[in-house]
Amino acid sequence: MALSAPSILPFNGAPRGLAILGATGSIGTQTLDVVRLFPSKFRVLALTAQHNAALLIAQAREFRPRCVVIGDETRAAEVRTALAGEDVEVLVGAEGMCEAATWPGVETVVAAVVGFAGLPSVLAALEAGKKIALANKETLVVAGVLVNDLLEKHGGTLVPIDSEHSAIFQCLVGEPQRTIEKLILTASGGPFRTRPAHTFDAISREEALDHPNWSMGAKITVDSATMMNKGLEVIEARWLFGAEATRIDVLVHPQSIIHSMVVFRDGSTKAQLGVPDMKVPIQYALSYPDRWPAPHERLDWAQLRRLDFEPPDTTRFPCLRLAYDALELGGTAPAILNAANEQAVASFLREEMRFVDIPRAVEAALDELADDRLPALDGLKQADAEARRFVQELNLRV
Ligand code: NDP
Ligand code: MG
Repeated sequence: MALSAPSILPFNGAPRGLAILGATGSIGTQTLDVVRLFPSKFRVLALTAQHNAALLIAQAREFRPRCVVIGDETRAAEVRTALAGEDVEVLVGAEGMCEAATWPGVETVVAAVVGFAGLPSVLAALEAGKKIALANKETLVVAGVLVNDLLEKHGGTLVPIDSEHSAIFQCLVGEPQRTIEKLILTASGGPFRTRPAHTFDAISREEALDHPNWSMGAKITVDSATMMNKGLEVIEARWLFGAEATRIDVLVHPQSIIHSMVVFRDGSTKAQLGVPDMKVPIQYALSYPDRWPAPHERLDWAQLRRLDFEPPDTTRFPCLRLAYDALELGGTAPAILNAANEQAVASFLREEMRFVDIPRAVEAALDELADDRLPALDGLKQADAEARRFVQELNLRV
């Protein structure tokens, strides 16, 4: 699949029906900030959350969707009681999320659930031929082939929200895919970019959650600290842009001003730059192929003075190498990489696993479980469950 020129009709003035999956998270709340900037362009029809009933209720009162979903069934009564007087259907669980993704009138689905849990609702939206603004990179990591098959079969569209992929997508507008030589994903390097290797054993939860440039959900913040986030993004780029792994490079750029680059076969390079602010790529995913006037912060070029670059260090950050390995192996390997990482990060966030043990757990799971044959969806789900169990039982205790 080539994402260089998806066929999206220009905005015709009628409000677009939106479903926001993961509305209470970092991407979800910033998507609603964009909606607040352009109230006449959108009609929010569905909102979903997992646990945060209070915020979901407040969002429902403000945006008046036709449907809200609370994943955690124990909070359903609270949501139902609070919204009893509103004209809104309250659904629960993973099935409710799939219903929200295909709710009548929904034109665009913002996929902003974190992790493998976001997969079923994205697949449901793809089967319904929706336009998807995709933040949930784990979906493409686990099921890139399946996603592309469904896109082809049902005529949907996928536009990336992830800032690096949005940058590449923007660089590719008007450029035929055959002209691409290389994709260069930039990486901030995270909070431990300059930290000496011998101190990694002592990395705490608080230190890992303190990202220098971006404010994001806990899981992706830890992924940025291990650089697994960049590894997942390499796999995401492979499926979004149809580029082999050998044509995807990672470059550390601590200021996060260049969001990524494309090198073309004539030697020319295009980059997309901006202040680190996820509202810009979120808005672009919603406005594409148009650009809407917005007050997002502009770069002050005179103050910028310098942009720095360095190669990634896969000795201190082995997760990046593991992701390339999983992509090369194919089959269930990316699903196992992802699931083992989700499990290890969750353990680290509960302070039950050390930071340095995250890549060890992922590598052990890959060595033990990866199979180079690509199964159908059920097989991917099974691989996911096995990898989680494997890491849980590893017992790499603090
Ligand atoms: P957050 O943790 O901030 O938000 C996650 C959202 O998903 C919340 O609405 C949460 O609900 C919901 N959720 C959590 N677990 C489940 C589940 N099991 N089933 C259904 N819904 C669930 O994450 P982010 O917004 O940071 O990230 C979302 C996705 O976007 C990730 O895939 C991430 O990699 C990607 N992304 C994020 C960026 C960012 O700047 N944050 C940048 C680029 C990509 P509740 O609040 O109720 O728990
Ligand atoms: Mg990113």
